[in-house]
Amino acid sequence: MNDGRPEPDDDPFAQLLDPEFASGAVVRELSAEERLRAAQRSVRSGELQIRLADEQAQQRSIQRRSRRRKWLRRGALMVLVSLVASWAIRYQSNVERSGTSIAQTTSRPVNFPPVDTSASKTPLGVPPPAPSGDGEYSFMRTQPDSADPVAWDPCRPVRYVVNWDGAPAGAQELVDAAVKRVSVATGLVFQYDSTTDETWSNDREPFQPDRYGKKWAPALIAWSTDKQVPGLGGYIAGLGGPAPVSSQSGQFVSVSGKVLLDIEAFNSMLASPGGEARARAVVQHELGHLVGLDHVADPHQVMFSGGSSDPPTEWGSGDLAGLHALGKGDCFPDV
Ligand SMILES: [Zn+2]
Repeated sequence: MNDGRPEPDDDPFAQLLDPEFASGAVVRELSAEERLRAAQRSVRSGELQIRLADEQAQQRSIQRRSRRRKWLRRGALMVLVSLVASWAIRYQSNVERSGTSIAQTTSRPVNFPPVDTSASKTPLGVPPPAPSGDGEYSFMRTQPDSADPVAWDPCRPVRYVVNWDGAPAGAQELVDAAVKRVSVATGLVFQYDSTTDETWSNDREPFQPDRYGKKWAPALIAWSTDKQVPGLGGYIAGLGGPAPVSSQSGQFVSVSGKVLLDIEAFNSMLASPGGEARARAVVQHELGHLVGLDHVADPHQVMFSGGSSDPPTEWGSGDLAGLHALGKGDCFPDV
């Protein structure tokens, strides 16, 4: 029955990147309370610790310097500490008065879980060699002052949970098959944690200790309709993106993320001939966003964002080259 939605063949395989989510927790608007906490944290645990650590390193390398100079430098550090502390007090009162967003002055997210001491010291897997070919690929975000992509930490599994509520029959096989293709192409190890009743939210927190314990929240894969999530309206069959945070070094790493799949669009695809491969490719596309791939204009890539009567159902050379790079990100033991 035609309910006004596009027929499967008219569906242009056009999944939208959710721009809010693509930028992750780092630049979201913070509440007044969060801004205050962030101001306190950035001064107490961030800047001072970094300055003190720098100081200690310098002390070790210059042991021959005279005690007098050492005390002078310590005095200077004390002055610096006092200046930073007084700046913090002034800044907090400014925040209280004006509500100025600290998101513009710090790149650290508000909430970090304790350091994950179970993380491997070396990558859990490596991607296969990048293919030859001139297919296009693009990253959702690159590191500051570099063309390197913001990626997931390959020393830890990409944990994910699925809310199967409303999912079409066969959804688990679709997700499993798509996850496997992303894992093979990136070398990233994916770990299915559990089902969840968490639903899509535009401002999903990457750290939800009440729901998921004192770890980064697993990536969420969920199903919904355009009535529940207007972002799925029109031709949109899915949404997806990572949640990157900043490490102490200023480099970014994805720690969580989310994928939303349109129940009606999938039912429609699965009811058409050959629709299973196409539906799986849509999940691949959204998982491609989850690991950091952006759209391309090349119609031979799964990350193509335009309409096509015959969209690819397997990665193209550009997809694979991008996924190769996304599997070779740095490990971030401090995140
Ligand atoms: Zn997309």
